[in-house]
Amino acid sequence: SDVTTTRLNNAPLLPDVKNIIAIASGKGGVGKSTVTANLAVSLAKTGAKVGIIDADIFGPSVPTMFNCEHEQPGILQRDGKNLIVPIEQYGVKLISIGFLAPADNAVVWRGPMASSALKQFISDAEWGELDYLLIDLPPGTSDIHLTLVQTVPVTGALIVTTPQKVALADAKKGLAMFKQAQINVPILGIVENMAYFIPEELPDNKYFIFGKDGGKKLAEQKEVPFLGEIPIVQGIRESGDNGYPAALKESVTAEAFQNLAESVAQ
Ligand code: ADP
Repeated sequence: SDVTTTRLNNAPLLPDVKNIIAIASGKGGVGKSTVTANLAVSLAKTGAKVGIIDADIFGPSVPTMFNCEHEQPGILQRDGKNLIVPIEQYGVKLISIGFLAPADNAVVWRGPMASSALKQFISDAEWGELDYLLIDLPPGTSDIHLTLVQTVPVTGALIVTTPQKVALADAKKGLAMFKQAQINVPILGIVENMAYFIPEELPDNKYFIFGKDGGKKLAEQKEVPFLGEIPIVQGIRESGDNGYPAALKESVTAEAFQNLAESVAQ
């Protein structure tokens, strides 16, 4: 049934959540989940209350990136209703579609199943008060994106891309989807991930492995804010795999994500 009709007392959904931010990418593998995780911990470091919904049905990576693959969210009952209790890690509340379908137990999510899971994560979870609820969307444009914008008032969308041509072409489609008249979600801006690489032993050399300034140029062309660049750093990949987001450690990487958090907070 439609989530808006099953709510108690017609109370607004998530009245205690100040900002709901959709994190989207056109293409997969551009670092959308990595940016989500590091942005979340960077926002939490500033004292903000932060949650993540991992709705990436093709590869939920929040459980791995937050080292809670083997945890299961609890359930509490209120007013005869079961509520999912998010897992909390590094000061961030988490719900992942991966908690329902562990990686080694491959479940193929059909669009409608995934959409209804997303609705539940939003309406039947104990989020409490949050300054930011980040939603890590699947790549591309799909039913899930539509469900999201029809279910909750999304404050804005953040588009993650690499500077590469094929990624930019897909990012453009993502931008167009959020800007459609029926959807009309404000674009917070574009983040260019994997923008360049600086080898530790050659600190004066900057390599533009996936091309230069692609995200910046797209932002200019589409007249949306450019929120900055995140370099390719081995530690970003490693800490993702190790379940401890790189932005938690003092480093140039942490600074880059802190700057992003500040841009988002404005
Ligand atoms: P998406 O969510 O867009 O599919 P991921 O966040 O899963 O992409 O990132 C894809 C891969 O690239 C992961 O292995 C991740 O660790 C790595 N990665 C992402 N961003 C960076 C970066 N800035 N530097 C190094 N590795 C990165």
